[in-house]
Amino acid sequence: MTRMETPQTTPIDPIRLDRLAEVGIRVGLNLQPGQDLLLTAPVEALPLVRRIAVHAYRAGAGLVTPLLSDPELTLLRFREAPDASFDRAAGWLYEGMAQAFDANTARMAVVGDDPMLLSAESPDKVSRASKAQSQAYKPARERITGFDINWNLVSYPGTAWARQVFPDLPPDQAVARLADAIFAASRVDADDPVAAWAEHNAALRMRTDWLNAQEFHALHFTGPGTDLTVGLADGHEWMGGASLARNGITCNPNIPSEEVFTTPHAARVEGHVRATKPLSYQGTLIEDIAVRFEAGRIVEATASRGEEVLHKVLESDDGASRLGEVALVPHGSPISQSDLLFYNTLFDENAACHIALGQCYAKCFRDGAHLSREQIAAQGGNESMIHIDWMIGSAQIDIDGLHADGRRVPVFRRGEWAS
Ligand code: ZN
Ligand code: ZN
Repeated sequence: MTRMETPQTTPIDPIRLDRLAEVGIRVGLNLQPGQDLLLTAPVEALPLVRRIAVHAYRAGAGLVTPLLSDPELTLLRFREAPDASFDRAAGWLYEGMAQAFDANTARMAVVGDDPMLLSAESPDKVSRASKAQSQAYKPARERITGFDINWNLVSYPGTAWARQVFPDLPPDQAVARLADAIFAASRVDADDPVAAWAEHNAALRMRTDWLNAQEFHALHFTGPGTDLTVGLADGHEWMGGASLARNGITCNPNIPSEEVFTTPHAARVEGHVRATKPLSYQGTLIEDIAVRFEAGRIVEATASRGEEVLHKVLESDDGASRLGEVALVPHGSPISQSDLLFYNTLFDENAACHIALGQCYAKCFRDGAHLSREQIAAQGGNESMIHIDWMIGSAQIDIDGLHADGRRVPVFRRGEWAS
């Protein structure tokens, strides 16, 4: 049997796309011989998904199982489904994923969806659907946030996403530009991307080692519209770049990744902070977020756009108005210097210092792999069904590390590492 290949022209360089797949498997997942892989991706990302499967099997994967999503099908539900549909989610699927993770299956997600896909849909339906989804996803999410297994996110330059980032360019050029930006940020422009990642991981490691040796009690952020003290959880640990999952595999969960991050104390955040970039949340752009914290909880929240969605997010559950992550990214990072708004957390969070509402990472505690949920909560770790990062860093932000005895150590000056 023969098969006709239709020659296709694509604005995406196939060589660098293949390198991205290789980096995802070898650096992002560090997939081990015999390990199975669960892969989710939008249908448009199939060219990347296929290369990922090639590199997965070359690395010795047992079985690669792809789950594809289609934006048209997502929209169609909002247009056609009965109202009760928006409180439903495929719980059986996420229980199956949890089972797969318990059997040491690795997890990769290709992101590249239209960030504004749901922007014209009813906020009530969007928020109910996302709440139902979030609840159903819990067994799978817990195993990922708890780092039970090696997992990784990589990006594909989807057309709708590219047009959002480059609205003035024709679609093909927009895709080509976004592809370039993704390849540069993912360090696949280098001749030996795997070596480039080893070097980058070592640089991030130097920062986390320093922060861990300091054992700060809190971080104090100051800048325009911001005077925020973020208490750090007891026994918190700074992480960044490569990290060791509980299954013994060292992986790079985010490609790209520029951040070092840790767990704030859920009850010790005080003051006010203004976001420095818009937050793209499930199709809604939330702009000019400003919030005030008291005893760890957001007690006041405003936004010039998307405020209703922001309030809904904060009401998702008890932990949704408290912090689960604080992260440091120098203003000079390559993604920041690209000066693009990607409308995608994976990129935008790596352009600036940020905080995240909701669930903390168990891994961001000393000996975190052996702490129970109760112990994590007792040390100040927050629990929630959401985890949403938003940017508070800029070239105008200063950060001091505060010791328990009141001593201050400069950490960031004008958006860059102080030393
Ligand atoms: Zn982060
Ligand atoms: Zn985060």
